[in-house]
Amino acid sequence: QAKEHGRNTYRFFEATMTSGVSDRLRLESALRGALARDQLWLAYQPQIALEDETLVGVEALLRWQHPELGLISPGVFIPIAEETGLIREIGDWVLEQGVRQLAQWDRDGIKVPRLAINLAMPQMESPELVAQVRGVLERTGVSANRIELEVTESMLMRNIDQVRANLEALREMGVYLAIDDFGSGYSSLRYLKRLPIHRLKIDRSFVEQLTQDPNDDAIVRAVIVLGRSLGLAVLAEGVETRAQADFLAAEGCHEVQGFLFGRPVPPEEISARLRA
Ligand code: C2E
Ligand code: MG
Ligand code: MG
Ligand code: MG
Repeated sequence: QAKEHGRNTYRFFEATMTSGVSDRLRLESALRGALARDQLWLAYQPQIALEDETLVGVEALLRWQHPELGLISPGVFIPIAEETGLIREIGDWVLEQGVRQLAQWDRDGIKVPRLAINLAMPQMESPELVAQVRGVLERTGVSANRIELEVTESMLMRNIDQVRANLEALREMGVYLAIDDFGSGYSSLRYLKRLPIHRLKIDRSFVEQLTQDPNDDAIVRAVIVLGRSLGLAVLAEGVETRAQADFLAAEGCHEVQGFLFGRPVPPEEISARLRA
């Protein structure tokens, strides 16, 4: 279903378009049926190593194609899914679908080294998460070290015991863990030394004005140093210009993601890109 929407032409239904409670309720009930009606799909955005600008992974980003409203932004429907509990079912689907796609790329001889998947809070604090991840890997034959799960700072702050148990069990299994939107949440640097994190993803808000706002330059530089000193991999999100990429490369950032190197696209566009 993704193919009908040409490359780079996505127009999202955004939060500003939900004017009131009734819109929101309508979305909520539509979302309940979205999975069953096959309206959800995953876009994949390339992750690029700055060293040689090769594709080192992809991040799965959820899309909801609504028959009347069009493409609805995850910024709109993920919060609804979280509040209604639908995120459990949707999150399971994302995990299963994403890892299956990785297995499919393998069968097709398309080399996608790593798949990153976003987790929501209800998944992160679920006692079933670890078994779920293990189950998907067993069913697909994909090895754990090709999967990276993205969590946010606020998810690391709450209900720390179950979250920590999950993170440790996942890491034990070989799954990698990344902190998404790093620097934008309730930051405590304490968890960086306590939790088995592999990668920091610098939030797009710091990258946006990079090379134009000296404060952003300073923050990004400091986060790269912090990450590297702790032995973490550092990825910058939202890289749109060559100047930003050059700055990041010069400062020792390992990887980038952003429109300069590729938008989130349907899986067949990743295949085409890697075949070319
Ligand atoms: P995120 O995980 O931080 O994903 C990065 C967002 O930045 C994506 O927005 C992506 O399309 C956008 N982006 C990437 N490069 C650029 C760039 O160069 N410029 C600009 N302006 N934007 C860029 P998207 O796809 O709308 O997703 C928004 C958020 O929704 C994600 O932020 C993530 O927090 C959440 N999300 C998406 N898929 C899932 C999912 O499967 N599960 C959960 N729990 N959350 C998801
Ligand atoms: Mg993410
Ligand atoms: Mg992010
Ligand atoms: Mg973000």
